[in-house]
Amino acid sequence: MNLVVLPGDGIGPEITVAALQTLERVTQALSLDLAFDVRQIGLASLRSAGTTFPPSVLDACRRADGIILGPVSTADYPAREEGGINASAELRIQLDLYANVRPSRTRDGLAHWGRTPMDLVIVRENTEGFYADRNMYRGSGEFMPTPDLALSVRKISGFASSRIARAAFDLAAVRRRHVTAVHKANVLGMTEGLFLREVREFAKAHPDIAYDEQLVDSMAALLVRDAARFDVIVTTNMFGDILSDEASELSGSLGLAASINFGDRHCMAQAQHGSAPDIQGQNKANPISLILSAAMLIDWLGRRHNDARLTSAARIIETSVDAVLEKPTTRTIDLGGPLGTTAFTTELCKVIDACSP
Ligand code: NAD
Repeated sequence: MNLVVLPGDGIGPEITVAALQTLERVTQALSLDLAFDVRQIGLASLRSAGTTFPPSVLDACRRADGIILGPVSTADYPAREEGGINASAELRIQLDLYANVRPSRTRDGLAHWGRTPMDLVIVRENTEGFYADRNMYRGSGEFMPTPDLALSVRKISGFASSRIARAAFDLAAVRRRHVTAVHKANVLGMTEGLFLREVREFAKAHPDIAYDEQLVDSMAALLVRDAARFDVIVTTNMFGDILSDEASELSGSLGLAASINFGDRHCMAQAQHGSAPDIQGQNKANPISLILSAAMLIDWLGRRHNDARLTSAARIIETSVDAVLEKPTTRTIDLGGPLGTTAFTTELCKVIDACSP
């Protein structure tokens, strides 16, 4: 299987090297059939090729079995006409990666910032909502009729709401069988109402899965107060983006925040966080976010291709990360430990070697 690897900007290259080392370790240990095709994107590509996301890279991603995307410094990109293309948005749109699955869980012995332990997954719609850049067939959904007036188009469709609801109920069926829909239908009655209409259809069809609803603002408070009560949370694009950063930080650190984006044919591993330019090049970044994202990708590939070696490789990575995090002396800096990116990765690879058959 061929995985395209896009290191991205900021801490992206550092955590991508860590994720690749981890994958190479399990590939060797379990004799997996994984090959890695590393391509340049982002600001480095802007300098060498005049665009942050060359068309040839998009083609390679279309052909690949999976993609690993490092964070990208989109805030520093020039306008699209000048080559600034957000690879994350572009891949989600072009490959129709409609579901962004973002788990957050606390670990015994590791400090967390919410009042309760948590083990939840946010299932975020990825192709529309407040993200105006993906809401138009042609042109931008954000526009400025006068210098003093800016508008953006927020789109909610029954189609996108239905397929994200399906992803959430599928996931709940193999977890603790509880879905919470997060919305703001008290204000955005039509759009959020449409989203809820579709989610409720799935709730009706799955009486064996507990279902409830929560307003997004109170959800922000409940994640701090009592995150233990949630299992699978389904929500629209921007609410999911914001709440998942909150949940991950509450679980210990944004550096633990893994995710995959998938559609009916493609899957992309991507950390939940951005390119962290404040710690770029200092060997301080926690690579766990991208390492666990890569594990989620190979788990997705294992299920899709019915390949138990891939799913067990994913389990080995997850249990090895937990084992390394158990000891305060082998934690990363963001978790209060002493280890930088490279030293943590070396420790993790040792544990993977010890766990592998
Ligand atoms: P950020 O997520 O990059 O950083 C927020 C804070 O978390 C920073 O203090 C950072 O040092 C810390 N942090 C993030 N990841 C970490 C890790 N793995 N280990 C340790 N600490 C970590 O958010 P930001 O600073 O608002 O954005 C920086 C850039 O990233 C901007 O250009 C933004 O547009 C871009 N961005 C990209 C993505 C993406 O690629 N999907 C997502 C969000 C933001």
